[in-house]
Amino acid sequence: MTAPLGPVDASLNPRYAGFATFARLPRLEDVDRADIAVVGGPFDSGVSYRPGTRFGPSHVRESSRLLRPYNPAQDFSPFARTQVVDAGDIALNPFDIAEAVEETDRAVTALGERVSRIVTIGGDHTLALPLLRSVARTHGPVAVLHFDAHLDTWDTYFGAPITHGTPFRRASEEGLIDMTASCHVGTRGPLYDKSDLEDDARLGFSIVTSEAIEEHGVDAAIERILTRIGDAPLYVSIDIDVLDPAHAPGTGTPEAGGLTSRELLRILRNLRDMNIVGADVVEVSPAYDHAQMTGIAASHVVYELITLLSMQIDRTR
Ligand code: MN
Ligand code: MN
Repeated sequence: MTAPLGPVDASLNPRYAGFATFARLPRLEDVDRADIAVVGGPFDSGVSYRPGTRFGPSHVRESSRLLRPYNPAQDFSPFARTQVVDAGDIALNPFDIAEAVEETDRAVTALGERVSRIVTIGGDHTLALPLLRSVARTHGPVAVLHFDAHLDTWDTYFGAPITHGTPFRRASEEGLIDMTASCHVGTRGPLYDKSDLEDDARLGFSIVTSEAIEEHGVDAAIERILTRIGDAPLYVSIDIDVLDPAHAPGTGTPEAGGLTSRELLRILRNLRDMNIVGADVVEVSPAYDHAQMTGIAASHVVYELITLLSMQIDRTR
């Protein structure tokens, strides 16, 4: 195997110059083969409150220019050990949710034939449904580890079944998730009714609330999460609103009392022995961001996910 093509060398080309691929990595078309692809899903037709996540992928890329190739927390260099690329954006119809959902499934399924693992940058959380349809076709029902202030297992809005508040109900109904191994993390804030929680449990999720993390600590949360997942194939879906608005203001439905970025990164790093089959980071809405805070948080979250996937691929070589 030839050495992977890495990011643009920041000692020769300033980080603020040139094209903003994710972490200044090569594009898919620049390499003969790739292991891991980052792909954008610019889309916000499924949102219930503030719009703007159609600009999420370009904002996260622009906020990722300072990422460096060695990850000291994992003692690992993901871009040297595996070929990581930016596969650009999926062209999604902003006027037709059903068509955008089909297009997302088609695009990531086709991309999955060229690379081993994909991290999708949203876009709103509607995209998790086609992303889960695609991975479940290959891997069967997957454990979903879902970081979010919200459950996203509601039924409909205005009668619409496919929105950013409903992907995990649809996924559960379609048999895409392992109902013995799936888990929400960071859930908080007011609900419509107590029955929201009963529905959610029936759909196959357990919950590590933001309050539980405060009360028992991050390590206890990690233990609960790892026990719940077991050895099931794992899909990680991260709504950036799992972070407190102090850490990620640039999102569509902010809720007070969330995780710090440090807590989220710590939980993610502890997934290093899991079999992760795919991941997304969604709901970054740059118009509400300040000083790239949300974009930078999201870019570091994507970097940790890439590191996990790269370590996983490296182990099998
Ligand atoms: Mn949310
Ligand atoms: Mn969500």
